[in-house]
Amino acid sequence: MHTPIKNLLPGATLGVLGGGQLGRMFVHCAQRMGYQTVVLDPDPQSPAGLVSHHHVVADYANAQGLRELIHLCDAITTEFENVPAHVLKELAAHLPVNPSAYAVSIAQDRIREKKHFTDCNVPVAPFHVITDQKDLDTVSGHVLPGILKTARLGYDGKGQIRVKTQGELQTAWKQLQSQGEDNEPMPCVLEKLLPLEFECSIVLARNESGHIVHLPPQRNIHRDGILALTQVHAGCLPQALEEQVIEFASAIASQLEYVGVLCVEFFVLKKSHSDALSSKDQAYELVVNEIAPRPHNSGHYSVEACDISQFELQVRCLANLPLTRPRQLCPALMLNLLGDLWLDPLCAPTHPQWREPDWSAILAIEGVHLNLYGKQEPRLLRKMGHITITSKDIEALYKTLDEITHILALPDFERPSPKTSLL
Ligand code: ATP
Ligand code: MG
Repeated sequence: MHTPIKNLLPGATLGVLGGGQLGRMFVHCAQRMGYQTVVLDPDPQSPAGLVSHHHVVADYANAQGLRELIHLCDAITTEFENVPAHVLKELAAHLPVNPSAYAVSIAQDRIREKKHFTDCNVPVAPFHVITDQKDLDTVSGHVLPGILKTARLGYDGKGQIRVKTQGELQTAWKQLQSQGEDNEPMPCVLEKLLPLEFECSIVLARNESGHIVHLPPQRNIHRDGILALTQVHAGCLPQALEEQVIEFASAIASQLEYVGVLCVEFFVLKKSHSDALSSKDQAYELVVNEIAPRPHNSGHYSVEACDISQFELQVRCLANLPLTRPRQLCPALMLNLLGDLWLDPLCAPTHPQWREPDWSAILAIEGVHLNLYGKQEPRLLRKMGHITITSKDIEALYKTLDEITHILALPDFERPSPKTSLL
């Protein structure tokens, strides 16, 4: 059963499943707009729980916790796609919930997700579903070298192993199976490793009547499978490609009858020379990677650089307020801050010591917006925060980025080259 969405005006109480940084930024935004907030998360120190009016400290499937949530909230969303889909379904019997349990269940499972993309006529990387030894033995060479990914529960490159040969595939399969709980088999997808020219994503919002608005598509640089930098300014993406990103993402959302904020991630490949010559305006080929049924790390820049952020879109969808087109106010970059930056470079690798990076040196630079998520302890590869850099001048954006990477001792980033931006 589905509780129809109401028009919830400020003063109402909005709940979010999950207490991570996405929940925290949702709470900040909902409160700015005059809403009360509730977070459900088992960690008493969760980043969102720490800043919300109410924090229900309970597991996502805890009956008492869910009862409390229903009692406190007027509508509920999620910041975490691995919340059991049946929980969303149960909640939806009592109050408005978006995105729907169905949409989240598709995003949770790479196998169903790929089927959905194909049904929408959006190209995906060649892949082979592996659920047992028989599937493993029948993998054809054309998906190798590839990346073996668990169908469920992966994030930030976790649950993925790169393999070049059948032998490596067999070992990787065993390794991923050993990480499963209760000896349950873990279905996987072997995806062909594609020669990526670059990556991009788009954040959109869709309401119950099917109206869609979106942020400008953004270009993303990943390092070790984790988003490192997002670039959003003129010249980042060829216009024809942007149009196709919008078209594909809208189709994916509409055919899911999606309500809420959705991020769609894409790979961009170079078209083979003969294909490129035969098509007038496209030198690139888009392949969809995955969707996230919530705001996304690559949309964080919208808080400082757009008049409506991805979190405001989430609030508007949940409260069934009008969706108007977000406008980007100035060019922006978003740099992720991983826990590695807290590691004292002077300590021995066997005895890691942590210290705060030099924020005052970074904050002394114009156009820098520091966002830290209030996580209690840094860990290697843990997302601790991000920096948004804004400037009207694109040259100045990259000069600031260079200064910051120098202070943080990070490797330099590549700028979108005129070759990729003009075509
Ligand atoms: P997220 O944190 O976005 O949820 P994830 O753990 O779900 O990440 P993916 O998005 O599947 O992982 O992959 C992470 C990154 O690894 C991609 O953004 C891309 O850089 C690289 N990658 C993944 N699949 C492929 C592929 N088939 N070919 C080339 N590179 C890939
Ligand atoms: Mg991804």
